[in-house]
Amino acid sequence: MDSLEDIEAEIRRCKKCELWKTKTNYVPGEGNSKAELVFIGEAPGREEDRQGRPFVGNAGKLLTEMIEKIGLRREDVFIGNILKCRPPNNRDPLPEEIKACSPYLIRQLDVIKPSVIACLGRYSASFIFGLFGLEFKGISRDRGKVKEVEKWGKKVKLIAIYHPAAVLYRPQLRQAFEEDFSAIASLLREKRRNPTLFDFM
Ligand code: URA
Ligand code: SF4
Repeated sequence: MDSLEDIEAEIRRCKKCELWKTKTNYVPGEGNSKAELVFIGEAPGREEDRQGRPFVGNAGKLLTEMIEKIGLRREDVFIGNILKCRPPNNRDPLPEEIKACSPYLIRQLDVIKPSVIACLGRYSASFIFGLFGLEFKGISRDRGKVKEVEKWGKKVKLIAIYHPAAVLYRPQLRQAFEEDFSAIASLLREKRRNPTLFDFM
């Protein structure tokens, strides 16, 4: 059986794509190995690369604030990215980088088995939706729509939300972003009220 620590150790010696050469630190992701809620971003930015931790720059501050607003702490959830190394100058991930790196994320999810997966931004949403065989038409179109899939012997909810960096850049997205966090909070409340609700076995 994989553990988050084993996966992290593998990431820390990974050379499966070119990004290891330009990174400062690997950013494997962090949080609770039994998290009900997982956030998935795109790739480390400058501050994440510097510290080796996910979502610790400005976008991370907004994400952390929103996590706390719904009554959780960062330690309660798991926060990860599709890519574990920063693309130079924060350029978009290349398809071959996503292909090389995403098996780590898939293994992390298989360990955690979350009930709710929140995808931050279009790269994350398009990858995760694709993984579960769902169509993703675009972030402004699909954000906030809760999708249900069967995985790990239970019902799992997926939701795509705006990337917090996009919300900082375009304040007009903030209202939708906050509404989507309320939706995430409702999913968790629903699950707590009826712990077997998401389970079909
Ligand atoms: N943006 C991301 O997608 N991930 C991070 O970890 C930080 C910023
Ligand atoms: Fe390995 Fe992922 Fe870093 Fe590429 S981005 S070197 S696949 S850990």
